[in-house]
Amino acid sequence: MTTYWAEFALLPSGLAQNVRVEVAAGRFATVQTDVPQGDAHRLPGVLLPGLANCHSHAFHRALRGRTHHGGGTFWTWREQMYAVAGRLDPDSYLALARATYAEMALAGITSVGEFHYLHHAPGGVRYADRNAMGEALRQAARDAGVRLTLLDTCYLTGGLTGDGHTSLAGVQERFTDGDASAWAERVRDLKDDSGFRVGAAVHSVRAVPGDQLAVVRAATHGQTVHAHVSEQPAENDACQAYYGRTPVEHLAAAGLVDDRFSAVHATHLTDTDIARLGAASATACFCPTTERDLADGIGPARALLDAGARVSLGSDQHAVIDLLEDARALEMHERLNTLQRGRIQPEELLTTATAHDSIGWPDAGRMERGARADLVAVRLDTIRTAGSDPGQILLSATASDVDTVIRDGEVVVANGQHRLGDIGRLLADAIGPLLDQRRNQEPP
Ligand SMILES: [Zn+2]
Repeated sequence: MTTYWAEFALLPSGLAQNVRVEVAAGRFATVQTDVPQGDAHRLPGVLLPGLANCHSHAFHRALRGRTHHGGGTFWTWREQMYAVAGRLDPDSYLALARATYAEMALAGITSVGEFHYLHHAPGGVRYADRNAMGEALRQAARDAGVRLTLLDTCYLTGGLTGDGHTSLAGVQERFTDGDASAWAERVRDLKDDSGFRVGAAVHSVRAVPGDQLAVVRAATHGQTVHAHVSEQPAENDACQAYYGRTPVEHLAAAGLVDDRFSAVHATHLTDTDIARLGAASATACFCPTTERDLADGIGPARALLDAGARVSLGSDQHAVIDLLEDARALEMHERLNTLQRGRIQPEELLTTATAHDSIGWPDAGRMERGARADLVAVRLDTIRTAGSDPGQILLSATASDVDTVIRDGEVVVANGQHRLGDIGRLLADAIGPLLDQRRNQEPP
């Protein structure tokens, strides 16, 4: 039994003071308020539940700060992303993902949903272990101290136009299993463990033909399923032109939109789409720091919440890994759109940042008796947070203000330091070889 105490904590009932928690076997045994520290270990600042990063592509971390020259679009950014994807193997992916997940842990993230489609070797050649890349991600998360849900992604076609689906080209051959049945068969070989769960994803309506969606649905009944949905207007236009309906309507017609479904981005939705996601109690996973980086647009977060949908957060391409910033951006983007403040209250923002249930961990994300013992201590005495109301800490703190991170009762970050040591160095060592090759391949 380990006991912690802090002056403030954000509990399910709201902001509490003088909070003492007992942790046993990775769970909260007791959570008490208005009690003295006694012999408990004191944590600084305000305690938050562990944060859930519900949409990650770990390898995109190699693109940070390298995609801004000359402008471009989402689609030209995608070409740069494919260049990195083309160079990874299970060993280099393990190194990059380990460092990336450690960066997430430093930001207070305890669960990660990895939207994983980089399955096979160049040319689509199978590794001896067909799940070698997924297993590299499992090991990376274990080393970095985060829980992982591998949202193994069905990805079958190169794109969608008004004339139908296009063929896979170049690096996309690494993503496909051929058809949805073969994808499901490979995924069945992956096994859950105490810190790892297998989920599923449809890459998008662009990458999975309509007849294959039914196969995915049959293989994943009752499971967590995610899909990129309406991130760009061009996807909506193509889906309307070929299938005669929006991506949400198309996925719903295949039976995929239910309370275990997450629509990732959900940026360009119709009123009918919003109502459908709300009626299903589905989740919309917003990735605000990515969506602004890629000029995607601002999704209808308030409208989705009002319709009955849930909202989660992801750092997606990792232009930024700071879920506090993503939570804040949800509100700030609403303000810019509506010219109103207070669109999404601080308590609602915390709920979006702790949506562990949307990636299959329903017993995490709340500081209460019996729940998984995840704690994030955010300092209230830094140059960013000094003077902040602890109840509004999501509106001022950054990942740099995270002092301590405990996952399942295990200390992963203490005094702002990850247990693996210098994570900046780990990142540089993992990304460097990928960048050198990129430079060599750039035309003169
Ligand atoms: Zn994504």
